[in-house]
Amino acid sequence: MATTQIAPERKAPSKLFIGGEWADSRSGATFESLNPATAEPLAQLAEARAQDVDAAVAAAREAFESGPWPRRDAADRAELLWKVADRVAARAAELARLEVLDNGKPIREAEIDLREAIDAFRYYAGWATKLEGETIPVRGNILNYTLREPVGVVGAIIPWNFPLLMAAWKVAPALACGNTVVLKPAEQTPLSALELAAIAREVGLPPGVLNVVPGLGETAGAALVRHPDVDKIAFTGSTAVGKVIMREAAETLKRVSLELGGKSPNIVFDDADLDAAVKGSYAAIFYNAGQCCTAGSRLLVHESAHDAVVEKLVERAQKLTPGDPLDPKTRLGPLISREQLERVLGYIEIGKKQGAELVIGGRRARYQGEEKGFWVEPTIFDRVEPQHTIAQEEVFGPVLATLTFRDEDEAIALANQTIYGLAAGVWTSNVKRAHRVARRLRAGTVWVNTYHPLDAASPFGGYKQSGYGRELGKYALELYTQVKSVWVDLS
Ligand code: ADP
Repeated sequence: MATTQIAPERKAPSKLFIGGEWADSRSGATFESLNPATAEPLAQLAEARAQDVDAAVAAAREAFESGPWPRRDAADRAELLWKVADRVAARAAELARLEVLDNGKPIREAEIDLREAIDAFRYYAGWATKLEGETIPVRGNILNYTLREPVGVVGAIIPWNFPLLMAAWKVAPALACGNTVVLKPAEQTPLSALELAAIAREVGLPPGVLNVVPGLGETAGAALVRHPDVDKIAFTGSTAVGKVIMREAAETLKRVSLELGGKSPNIVFDDADLDAAVKGSYAAIFYNAGQCCTAGSRLLVHESAHDAVVEKLVERAQKLTPGDPLDPKTRLGPLISREQLERVLGYIEIGKKQGAELVIGGRRARYQGEEKGFWVEPTIFDRVEPQHTIAQEEVFGPVLATLTFRDEDEAIALANQTIYGLAAGVWTSNVKRAHRVARRLRAGTVWVNTYHPLDAASPFGGYKQSGYGRELGKYALELYTQVKSVWVDLS
């Protein structure tokens, strides 16, 4: 089949991974994954529907209740997670290529995803042996202590913008804590999750501990959220779907953690190193073609630095043109889908209609001289007003909204003036201002004189409608464990 010529990196079959075995979907349904650079089909895959999700949850439940995983020595769990990391590392080059074909991102960025995914598995392998309880000095002749136990079956629902990395952020801590997992990758990018399943099988993860069910959000995703035998949903995606999930999960009172959208402010003060600020602001919005929940999509620049910053940003953006995503020199990839292309172009039209000044970009971009694939020109709007739609809503594309401010108070007021609170950037050479502003920003991550770095060891998550729960670092252990208090009468 042509597919194997397009993506020779694939080792996993185009099937569901349930209870340690590859399975066709019970309905026989399939769906297609496209290469977003060209819109050509990449793979035809089994599509999980409710019945398949039932089977996957049953396998995960069985593995949790009767299988070895939660009862296994923590050191053994650590060793297996480390083996997963080693195997991902051994296949990093081909997995990065696969991610490029399925998602469209430039290979240089896919390589960064791979490194961070490996880090996540190693970091949480380390935690498996460090999940400790406490002894508590209660009244009476009593030994009181706590056990930190897994929550059970975790449903992990992930988006398409960082497919393998998002899988790692959820699967690694969930498994380290002794849970079992049903992972539903995004329908646009299911391939790397299936490779992860193949790796899990290869290194000897017991059957049912990790199950992977590619399928659509409204069917497979919704079935997972509603399933009475799922104890927790870990979700990354849009705020709109996050709200649906919260409502749906209420029926079975599931634990839910939500990492949602953003409209992150990136504030450039007039005392900043402007060259560094421009470089950082450029990466803040154009990395992954702006398809990052943390994208610095609102540039707030001091009025005296405005002209210089915008001019230099435009100079950089002019050089950012479509290139073969597999070429290491390429910095701009396509958007993920036709739907996303239309959405982003729609926001650009709204920006123009509402009176923002389009200084560069604004159109669909051509790839290899043709209008194919889902490419958009790097786009910068100036003179954006805080109430404009493009200053309030998440565009999820390479579209920057520039606003100005006069002083620190105004900058902070503007920065906090959206429903979101995922991340923020601050560019200043004044140390006191840096820390002062970092405290006043209502965001789960603040970057000072940098933008975008993340690390498996440092917590990540949102304030306000960007969600709740912290992934990464020791904080993620809270999401995947629960605490039991044990009382022993010693009298
Ligand atoms: P995006 O807008 O980035 O595509 P979504 O929030 O739509 O983000 O999708 C993120 C993930 O949520 C995907 O895996 C998608 O299939 C899933 N999803 C979408 N709708 C639902 C739903 N109603 N219930 C559960 N999962 C869903």
